[in-house]
Amino acid sequence: MARVYNFSAGPSMLPEEVLKKAAAEMLDYEGSGQSVMEMSHRSKWFDAIIKGAESLMREVMNIPDNYKVLFLQGGASTQFSAIPMNFMTGSGKADYVITGQFSNKAYKEAVKYGDVIEAASSKDGNFSYIPKLDKSSFREDADYVYICHNNTIYGTKYPELPDTGDIPLVADISSSFLSEPMDVSKFGVIYGGAQKNVAPAGLTIVIIREDLLGKAMPLTPTMLDYKAMADGESMYNTPPCYSIYMCKLVLEWIKSLGGLEAMKERNVKKAKILYDYIDQSKMFTAPAQKECRSLMNVTFVTESDELNKKFVAEAEKAGFVNLKGHRSVGGMRASIYNAMPIEGVEKLVEFMKEFEKANS
Ligand SMILES: *Cc1c(COP(=O)(O)O)cnc(C)c1O
Repeated sequence: MARVYNFSAGPSMLPEEVLKKAAAEMLDYEGSGQSVMEMSHRSKWFDAIIKGAESLMREVMNIPDNYKVLFLQGGASTQFSAIPMNFMTGSGKADYVITGQFSNKAYKEAVKYGDVIEAASSKDGNFSYIPKLDKSSFREDADYVYICHNNTIYGTKYPELPDTGDIPLVADISSSFLSEPMDVSKFGVIYGGAQKNVAPAGLTIVIIREDLLGKAMPLTPTMLDYKAMADGESMYNTPPCYSIYMCKLVLEWIKSLGGLEAMKERNVKKAKILYDYIDQSKMFTAPAQKECRSLMNVTFVTESDELNKKFVAEAEKAGFVNLKGHRSVGGMRASIYNAMPIEGVEKLVEFMKEFEKANS
């Protein structure tokens, strides 16, 4: 069996230990005589799985007790609509920071439901940086401030969280979920699709401060009403059972390695190997500004589209797959989520060195 090093932005690599455990339990989960894919979501086995996933999530992320953890569907993109419907109901205003495509999509969706402004944007720099923000960047009576914490496509991340005072901060953390410790109490809501760093596709996790619940617009579809989802303990309807099970295994794996502090240490180390090489390379450059660089999505380019194409094609032949940058930005992107082993990054850098030598 030859496994490749998969640098996909999502769905992406899962830890090999987790895949092996899932394989071993595939036909008969803990003596149930069934796969987790087949069992009732009301069964005692699945009840233990979803409760276990939640309590591990709380433990690993150090989530305060006054936050709800919801296991939902629809992807991060569905939350783009659910967030204004649930939270833009005080003054009816919300302030969005545009740092890439996903925050822009969220903004465009929110505009349908109220008085939404672009509080700041890094569009002028092709989203290569995070705008400087302070309290004066936001309207005092905004119901929430919205950010995308890690910009998967452009390879940037907030070096620090904006100070929004008493205004709840809502953050899309799809591509930084579980990559490093995060002070959940600084946010009103954090959420993300699981397929980047947490589990297979199909699961969306939303973590909400309880006092923000119960104020949804009357027209909010029940499936998008976070209060209804919280009251149903993520089982208002059939949840994405298998992805929740995988999420639990991933959390067990993270815990066994020392939790999010240890993840951060590994992730910083991996990103440094790649950025250090790019910074001294005469062929490759990283478009994201240094102080805003993502730990998870490393974007880089050569001077020509042809050379980029050649690099991606040769890398794929050598077993480094999905390095092509997002179709909207071109170039290359190496997504190095938790499951990417350090040697995957080391070997990629070796390959880049050889490529640079052979093509300059
Ligand atoms: C991938 C991604 C999304 C879109 O997620 P879906 O689950 O496909 O809707 C949104 N935001 C960020 C930051 C992402 O990385």
